Amino acid sequence: MNDQQYHSYYSRPDGSPSNAPYGDTSRAGGTVPAAGSPHPPYGANRPYPDSPYPNAEYPNAGYPMDGYPIGPGANAPFGPAMASAPHRGLPGPGAAPSAARRRSNVIAIVAFVTAIAVLVGCAVALRRVPSASRTAAQASSGSAQGTTASVTLSADQVCANVTSAMSSIDGWTKSDGSAPDELTVLANDRTACGSGASDLTADQLSTMSSHTTDALLAWYSAMQPRYGSDTTLNYQLDGQWSDETRALKSAFSKDGWQDDPTYAAEQAAKLRTSIDSMQSHLDATFSDLHGRENAVAGIVLNDSASEADVWNAIDSATQAMGVTYAFGSDAADCGDAASQDETDDGSAIASFCFTDATTDHRNTITFVNDAADWNEIKANPFLLDATKHELAHRSISIVCGTTEPNIVGTRTEAVTNAYSFTYLGGDRQRSENMQAGLEDYQVQDQDIQVAQKIHDSGTCRW
Ligand SMILES: [Zn+2]
Repeated sequence: MNDQQYHSYYSRPDGSPSNAPYGDTSRAGGTVPAAGSPHPPYGANRPYPDSPYPNAEYPNAGYPMDGYPIGPGANAPFGPAMASAPHRGLPGPGAAPSAARRRSNVIAIVAFVTAIAVLVGCAVALRRVPSASRTAAQASSGSAQGTTASVTLSADQVCANVTSAMSSIDGWTKSDGSAPDELTVLANDRTACGSGASDLTADQLSTMSSHTTDALLAWYSAMQPRYGSDTTLNYQLDGQWSDETRALKSAFSKDGWQDDPTYAAEQAAKLRTSIDSMQSHLDATFSDLHGRENAVAGIVLNDSASEADVWNAIDSATQAMGVTYAFGSDAADCGDAASQDETDDGSAIASFCFTDATTDHRNTITFVNDAADWNEIKANPFLLDATKHELAHRSISIVCGTTEPNIVGTRTEAVTNAYSFTYLGGDRQRSENMQAGLEDYQVQDQDIQVAQKIHDSGTCRW
């Protein structure tokens, strides 16, 4: 379960914490609703949603908006007697065993030893099976040994495995962009094969088979975190991922790879096909996402924007992303296990709900219209920045399968702000004013770099 609820907060002008549940509690996750899903009926002349809580306390009338930091809000860090028992069947002290008993004992001992010998033999045989295929390679070109190994790899087969393996792991690089050693070694083997497989010695062929399995296993380990984890693959953006996801999951089994280079090469080829299919879908998804983000980035407001301007901009931004918005309390339903970290350092005004239990929330953001200051904040251009902040949570969850990928560490909110400022046109200065004092939201250079990695290369892990 991976439930996270995020809120946009702002700090109060006097720096004192607000207890008002200004939550921007957005839960990401869930299926994406269709891109034209109905927005709340707030058109150009929409009645601005007043809080359905007429008794909500209203802050001081002259509340200066530019002092509103979106502070670390309530949801910020999400932040689970045998010894003495009489031995039966043994003669007591001094009791001489009868001849029949002695014979019986001898038979029992012989049977026991025989059984042990058979078991040991079986164990040795079992242990030998896995290595048979590798030793077979050694024997393949040297018939002198006259091996009886069950699997014999010809020089052609060994080289075919090398070629197949190279094809499967083509393009594999380490995080720094360099080629992994295993890939380099395998490339050399392929060159040797190209010079004439028939000239290769049994030792060379054996070594090549080892290189093949070593490289494929190392490649598998490198692919596993990216394509083998639920967090990456369970984000069903358009509901069409399930078959690909299932195929990829089934391809992620490396049982037997270490024992049989031919089998490993075959399975790796299947895995590569599944990965390519998934990556193609991911590429299309991210391309679409980036196009939508660019559109959102072009929707901006100056500080003197009217309330109508604010909501027109919010309508445009959410529509561009294929997202709807709703109004609700800070504790809007985000799944049973949704975390709501109720700090009192700020007030939440909007929220995004991410949960892998359902995709229902992933295309919705919620404005907390029962917040005490809602009637003020709903007309503040900062609400567009808060909207973009929630959309940034969503973008990160689309790329990484979680709103809190490994790469953000403890900087979830700051990286989310950085993502919004960099790719969604979030107004940094206005946000910093509104979120003064909310340390979790203050963007550092490092946060920008992390946001760039997530956005540009889908890097979600260090
Ligand atoms: Zn947030």
